[in-house]
Amino acid sequence: MSAQNSETIGPAKYPGLKVIDPSPAVSANGKMPSANTADGYERLRQETARGLRYCHTRINANTSKSLEVASFLYALIELLVEKGMLTLAELDERKQKVAERLVQKFKDSGLGLMYQDPEHDKYTFAHESHVDCENRIAACRAMCCKFPFALSQQDIEEGIIKWDFGRPYLIAHGDDGYCVHLDRETFECTVREHRPVPCRGFDCRDNERWKVWEDFEGKIINVELQDSFENGKHAR
Ligand code: SF4
Ligand code: SF4
Repeated sequence: MSAQNSETIGPAKYPGLKVIDPSPAVSANGKMPSANTADGYERLRQETARGLRYCHTRINANTSKSLEVASFLYALIELLVEKGMLTLAELDERKQKVAERLVQKFKDSGLGLMYQDPEHDKYTFAHESHVDCENRIAACRAMCCKFPFALSQQDIEEGIIKWDFGRPYLIAHGDDGYCVHLDRETFECTVREHRPVPCRGFDCRDNERWKVWEDFEGKIINVELQDSFENGKHAR
């Protein structure tokens, strides 16, 4: 870590944080070892272990804090009930309303893990759509491969379909807005056998949420939706 980085993220700025040195291991000649060598493998192993250590430390700290906050809250509720200032029925009713509000806020923040729900086995999925994509691709330019959607646990465990590290587990998109698995020249899916359920089931003829066509038969694209992707309106 350079002296400058050390000052920027070090204890002076965030006194409560223990800083883990993120500098990569380098070989004696000062170069990063290739991932295909024993040194490279060891470097990757060390980086992964450092990353896991950081995550575990954060989880541990957050759990301790949550337990502390819960203790205060339960103590407060018990005291209020004992003093006759509130009943458990009133508390339950209000708790339900607040919980709904918080869950919605959490979802809107994009911080939660997103999985397909309900989940279907993609290899036995019975509702595949059949659109003549090859005759329409010149007009739609595979707009559907820009749509954001969550992967399934099956996709994640299989490890073929890439997801967005910044928004787990939405499918990964490139800087051009397209899914990373789309061949940019032919507009073909490069993981067709393993494509997720939303790709199998999406039918652009009559989808209300993603209205690709102004006129399906006439092959007239919905310019408004197309523009919204060009302008980065849809979070990826
Ligand atoms: S938008 Fe419709 S026609 Fe175009 S690639 Fe997607 S499913 Fe096929
Ligand atoms: S997985 Fe294939 S079909 Fe699905 S969005 Fe990506 S490129 Fe398109």
